[in-house]
Amino acid sequence: MSTTTQAPTPASIPKPEVTELTRPYWEALAQGRLMFQRCDCGLAWLPARRECPQCLSDKVRWENATGTGKLVSWVVYHMAYSDAFKDKLPYNVAVVELDEGPRLITNMLGAHEALACDAPVRLAIEVVDGLALARFALA
Ligand SMILES: [Zn+2]
Repeated sequence: MSTTTQAPTPASIPKPEVTELTRPYWEALAQGRLMFQRCDCGLAWLPARRECPQCLSDKVRWENATGTGKLVSWVVYHMAYSDAFKDKLPYNVAVVELDEGPRLITNMLGAHEALACDAPVRLAIEVVDGLALARFALA
């Protein structure tokens, strides 16, 4: 009787549920652009919503972000709460504010030690498991 041992396959990252509402965001990232939503009242935001969180209008449009902004906050994880992240330890989860206003939860690329509040950042799209993700690097 022979046995075959196989190295454990790294778990894939949890995937977002792409809906009609969020499809423009994910398709833009796959094309190398970051998009956000804006209302006629001027407010801009992420993630996608059907109505403006300020005036509840449904006259919402998509706009391209410049990809620049600032680092608002971050944490560094030294423990993986999902097997998909075990080989990425330590990793960070950050809040970035785009120059256009929307904030998003993301990851900062590069050394954690270099991160600083209000540091200028730039978009650095990374493809992970076939999915284009909006990540950032210090500018
Ligand atoms: Zn509005």
